[in-house]
Amino acid sequence: MHIEDFQIADLPRGRKAFEWYDVAPRPDGSQWRLPLLTITGQEDGPVFVVIAGIHGDEYEGPETIARVYQQVQAEEIRGKLVMVPFFNLPAYESGTRNSPVDGLNLARVMPGDPAGSISYRLGHYVTEKFIMPSDLFLDIHSGGVALNICTSIYYYHTENEIGSKTRAAAEAFAAPVVVGNTNPETAVYGCSFRTCWDRNKAGLFTEAHGAGRTLPQEIDCFTTGVLNLLKHLGMLPGEIVKQKVTHRLVTDLRPGGDFSANVAGFFRPEVRMLERVTTGQRLGVIQDFSGASLQEFHAGRDGYITLLRGVPRVSVGDSLFGITDGDSFLA
Ligand SMILES: [Zn+2]
Repeated sequence: MHIEDFQIADLPRGRKAFEWYDVAPRPDGSQWRLPLLTITGQEDGPVFVVIAGIHGDEYEGPETIARVYQQVQAEEIRGKLVMVPFFNLPAYESGTRNSPVDGLNLARVMPGDPAGSISYRLGHYVTEKFIMPSDLFLDIHSGGVALNICTSIYYYHTENEIGSKTRAAAEAFAAPVVVGNTNPETAVYGCSFRTCWDRNKAGLFTEAHGAGRTLPQEIDCFTTGVLNLLKHLGMLPGEIVKQKVTHRLVTDLRPGGDFSANVAGFFRPEVRMLERVTTGQRLGVIQDFSGASLQEFHAGRDGYITLLRGVPRVSVGDSLFGITDGDSFLA
């Protein structure tokens, strides 16, 4: 079946299934496909969608989704749990962040276009088939091969229904770092988080260590987090399992927090993940093979280091640091 013909509303009740849907033709006549895991209860209830693999080099999401799928049974669930363990299979095949087919970043092309190239089509299906029919939408990301990002969950820190809904969900999920965005219109255009906001849907996303591998403690955290959300939504019985939150950060994503390379070279950070930095503090350097400095970086605002490039070799435009300003810190 083609994903165009798929509707969450049509899923039969009381069923657990792993199915593949066609997305777009490949040159050899076969299809790019989408793997779908669905667990539906007999009783009506919320629609909770969890997707992963928007970027082809991020593996925390698919491992989490497979674990949740193995643990949850149709007999115990209320409503519909719909999970896509890897959305961007072309990028998975090549092990790259962007699609090898059209070179595009799937997290920059949403809401997508059904008549566009493969990434635009996938972006369209994320939006129309999964975001729009959901009551809660979770997109699991991580640092991929090149970046390290702290284990975190992001929500809208806004004074409206979507804000309170996503904040309560992020607290129920509970990653070590919980980040609220006070101005979602500053979230990068084309990603699911921004697309959810623009369409008044409750969206969350995670970040994680990355580095081209998975860490057991992060898979445990995310698996518990998804099961917690099922309980929070009243889809599964049982108590929410409390997970430790070390940082609650509230940010408006104002300028001064993101850094990318202006030169190619060898990158040497001088700060650690989640280190508190102050405006003007030196963060690191890109140097040549003699150790001479080519570009130095200084904090543009106070905050916590939440993103650090993990691979020393850098090209022009590569992301190096992310600073998130924070209102509160719980040790
Ligand atoms: Zn990602």
